Amino acid sequence: MSIETLARKAVRELTPYQSARRLGGNGDVWLNANEYPTAPQFELTAQTLNRYPECQPAQVIARYAAYAGVSPQQVLVSRGADESIELLIRAFCEPGKDAVLFCPPTYGMYQVSAETFGVECRTVLAKTDWQLDLAAINANLTNVRLIYVCSPNNPTGNLIHPDDLRSLLASVNGQAIVAIDEAYIEFCPQASLVNWLADYPNLVVLRTLSKAFALAGLRCGFTLANQEVINLLLKVIAPYPLATPVADIAAQALSPSGIDAMRQRVSEIITNRTWLQQQLAQCHCVEQVFASESNYLLVRFKPSSQAFAQLWQQGIILRDQHKQPGLQHCLRITIGTRAECQRVIDALNLLPNA
Ligand code: PMP
Repeated sequence: MSIETLARKAVRELTPYQSARRLGGNGDVWLNANEYPTAPQFELTAQTLNRYPECQPAQVIARYAAYAGVSPQQVLVSRGADESIELLIRAFCEPGKDAVLFCPPTYGMYQVSAETFGVECRTVLAKTDWQLDLAAINANLTNVRLIYVCSPNNPTGNLIHPDDLRSLLASVNGQAIVAIDEAYIEFCPQASLVNWLADYPNLVVLRTLSKAFALAGLRCGFTLANQEVINLLLKVIAPYPLATPVADIAAQALSPSGIDAMRQRVSEIITNRTWLQQQLAQCHCVEQVFASESNYLLVRFKPSSQAFAQLWQQGIILRDQHKQPGLQHCLRITIGTRAECQRVIDALNLLPNA
């Protein structure tokens, strides 16, 4: 008998998340994981590694609460937003009975986490403008306990209309949690739903230090929700989810100067995004550049261009979105430094004009 047969059925059948790092590549221009292109510098100050860390480090919680404009009781910190995606399933979904709903094309971890736990994935395709198909969602809510909505959406870059989100929250109140994934919200802070927490007990907002805070390697994310939800998540989280050095650096990143530095990075990325968008629109191999509120651009290429493979061979690693519904011939390009954006444009302009 092979060990494989001992594994749970859900795990045997699982296709793991194809993270940018797992996909590999041999590059010097990495624009495939929506990371910030350069590394901020920190020094460790906590020297008590003989001791277990706090489960929910008080200074990190207090600083994130102040930054987000909520009370500390409304904040949970975890190993990246990916962990909070999973904690929600563990707290709210009965395997083999309940379902999670999300609207492709969107972030891939909602599906992987649900499948890992043997929880059904109910998918309702986004409309052609990548907004929510509310009628179809409402027709598919049986046993749905948890709905993930990514806004700005990865990989399309658009915001979801707030009126649609209000109507969704109201229609599933008492039945399902609505988790708004705001991983990229720092690039359009006015669009955050965090101020709606007072109105909707079933609203959850997911955040991360991986994008605008330039700390993807730290693995630190936040869940903002009403205290009842936070208390349930605290029941299922690991006893020590954040290593002491992680909490140390997260607290520094959330200091007033850390937040200033983040805002500077955001404005630099938005300047580069505008530049890249204009340049891409003039490339002969590009069919369409979609508007983005985030730190990446979704671009549809002419089918003959083979842009992904061609740039890959030159060490410019982009993210292929071809297999997502409605995204044939689309690549997602993270906004890097101006020099990296220039490399992309130079390489695209050298592609044969088919
Ligand atoms: N949500 C979205 C939409 C993302 O793009 C990502 C990062 N790829 C995450 C969540 C996970 O973020 P973290 O690095 O905090 O786990």
